[in-house]
Amino acid sequence: MKNISRVKEIIVANKEKAGRVADLIIVNKALIIANKALIIANKEQGEFLVNISHELKTPLNVIFSTAQLFDMYCKSGSLDDKKESIIRYIESMKLNSYRLSKLINNIVDISKIEAGFFKLNLSNNNIVQVVEDIVMSVTTLTECNGLQIIFDTDIEEKIIACDTEKIERIVLNLMSNAIKFSDDGDEIFVDIKDKSEFIEISVKDNGIGIEDKNLSMIFDRFKQVDKSLSRNTEGTGVGLSLVKSIVELHGGSIYVESECGKGSKFTVRLPSKKVLHESILYNNEVKSQNQNIRVEFSDVY
Ligand code: ADP
Repeated sequence: MKNISRVKEIIVANKEKAGRVADLIIVNKALIIANKALIIANKEQGEFLVNISHELKTPLNVIFSTAQLFDMYCKSGSLDDKKESIIRYIESMKLNSYRLSKLINNIVDISKIEAGFFKLNLSNNNIVQVVEDIVMSVTTLTECNGLQIIFDTDIEEKIIACDTEKIERIVLNLMSNAIKFSDDGDEIFVDIKDKSEFIEISVKDNGIGIEDKNLSMIFDRFKQVDKSLSRNTEGTGVGLSLVKSIVELHGGSIYVESECGKGSKFTVRLPSKKVLHESILYNNEVKSQNQNIRVEFSDVY
């Protein structure tokens, strides 16, 4: 009898051991998967750093070589003769400074989001007015390329909680991409639709479009569609991931529809909610400062 109960005990103990081994195997598998994810994340971070330092160096080199050229003109006493070209060089220095600012702003914001320090200054604003003001302030810049920006809305007023500065970043970013991937003379449509529970802002272009296989990754941090396929060689692939994070911080969502060769449409949905305590009020005086537009559009103009 004693022997039988001993055998039973051993069987139970063995079952428990087998259970623990199975648990360990599962934990081990999870660790292997986590480790693989870490290796991939590290690789992507590494690639991003290489890419970003190249993007930082390019405008810096332009600014530095131009400064050296001015130095040479000063020393040789040819400043007056070179007046025409100096004016052009100053413009190029400004453009490259805007590019640097955009890059640095994006890197700082991405780091803040990752660290959880990125804050929204929410206030109740007429989102239609906010978006229209942004669109209107870029039209002068785009008209010189023959690009037409067509703004349409199905409502005149909708008060929602938003951070106007961040909404400007979102709209300018989507518009600068639309311009970047369109041809001169094309049309870009910015539409607002009231869907009662939320408000829809869309930016649509008739440009080069995005291949189906790339659609799922364009919102990923550090990801750029194969450069050989896109006409643009500038960029770090952080713009859309930043836009997505800012939209999500507002409690909204973003999605894209695109057809290769036909164009793309990015739609942002923001919840129709208000805040009780406003941090900052929308001030018409600070809307779409020219400086902000030049920074956000530095890849295209
Ligand atoms: P970047 O900061 O390099 O401009 P984004 O995150 O803004 O990167 O965009 C990621 C990629 O998505 C771009 O490199 C481009 O290939 C693609 N893309 C974004 N917007 C458009 C658009 N309107 N038309 C075609 N391709 C686009």
